[in-house]
Amino acid sequence: MKDILIAGGGLAGLISAICLADAGLDVVLVEKKEYPFHKVCGEYISNEVVPFLESIGCYPHYLEPAAISNFRLTDMSGREARLPLDLGGFGLSRYQLDHYLYEKAKERGAEFRLRKKILDVEQIKDGFRVELSKGEELEARLVIGAWGKRSNADNSLDRSFFRKRTDYIGVKYHIRADHLPDDEVALHNFPGGYCGIVKIEDGAWNMCYLGSKERLKHWGSLEAMEENDLGKNPFLRRVLREASYLHDKPEVINEINFGRKKAVERGVLMAGDSAGLITPLCGNGMAMAIHAGKLVSETVLEHWPLNTAAKRDLLESAYTSAWQKLFARRLWVGRQTQKLFGGNVTSAFSVGLLRNIKPLGRVIMQQTHGKAF
Ligand SMILES: Cc1cc2nc3c(=O)[nH]c(=O)nc-3n(C[C@H](O)[C@H](O)[C@H](O)COP(=O)(O)OP(=O)(O)OC[C@H]3O[C@@H](n4cnc5c(N)ncnc54)[C@H](O)[C@@H]3O)c2cc1C
Repeated sequence: MKDILIAGGGLAGLISAICLADAGLDVVLVEKKEYPFHKVCGEYISNEVVPFLESIGCYPHYLEPAAISNFRLTDMSGREARLPLDLGGFGLSRYQLDHYLYEKAKERGAEFRLRKKILDVEQIKDGFRVELSKGEELEARLVIGAWGKRSNADNSLDRSFFRKRTDYIGVKYHIRADHLPDDEVALHNFPGGYCGIVKIEDGAWNMCYLGSKERLKHWGSLEAMEENDLGKNPFLRRVLREASYLHDKPEVINEINFGRKKAVERGVLMAGDSAGLITPLCGNGMAMAIHAGKLVSETVLEHWPLNTAAKRDLLESAYTSAWQKLFARRLWVGRQTQKLFGGNVTSAFSVGLLRNIKPLGRVIMQQTHGKAF
């Protein structure tokens, strides 16, 4: 029996694998894809993660992330508000970052099962039995659920949010466009959504938007929706006309759910988006996933070995309350702020607020971001 099985190898899963393998536990991580691979994500990472990543020897200096120090918000007419970012951040593709952390986790002794999907997680005496695709089964004393926003694994645990339909879709491109600033993360409103643009490594930019399934149905294709909806915003219109696209097709996901989830479900400790997804406008989901990987590992190590049922109960309640304390308020503020995006009147209102009451932007950023850890 393994000590720890980590289900899903995004940021939360990989950081947990690194920390727990470093502490000498016998760790296996199951990931349904094979590194490196692309993911829908805005790829702007708050600098709050830098001290921690450096402390575990995992800040990817050599990948030369783009340094980001300014924020720009535009409404649908192109009216803009700008703010310097107190803490700042960096732009780096998930293709590079996740692959880098995967290599680190392997070096530290974590074992990987790639191209294997978690199908079911069942509690047994002293641990869990996990069913993987292709007929494989693994047993572990503890399972960390790090499978992201929405997965068949949520369905197998009968999590209620899984059955709720949502209108959100996410679309990501990597582009080159000479006129874009190097040091800025921008959010541009358009009918039904908003689009983030940020520089990443190798002279490329990430363009990633949260849009509406209804609008996509209305226009019939992504191209038509981009031309007619995104193109209403003059900034996006220029990018759509001038950019060269670095991949044949975009990454696309749907059924994005920002609703509440539990941090522990049937004994599985959830880390990252599987415990709750912050709205992308906050640009903080990746930092939260990294922080959650740290938090879950530290909490597990404080309660290890899990040799009694009472210790498991203690671990579950300690993790739930630590998770709530660190993340619950940020998720709530993110949900409320998102209501100001994607509508003509509301986005003009939010740009007006930021232009006229400069400290407000700072307050929202402080509420949706954590402190450096
Ligand atoms: C449109 C959009 C834009 C965003 N932009 C930003 C941004 O600019 N900055 C930011 O900080 N955050 C952003 N986020 C949020 C950020 O992407 C997530 O919060 C972050 O990726 C969470 O990491 P994770 O490790 O929890 O999940 P993930 O990175 O999603 O990793 C989960 C992993 O689990 C694997 N998996 C799933 N199911 C199974 C299974 N059954 N078996 C095995 N493996 C499985 C998946 O393949 C995946 O690799 C954005 C989100 C969206 C939707």
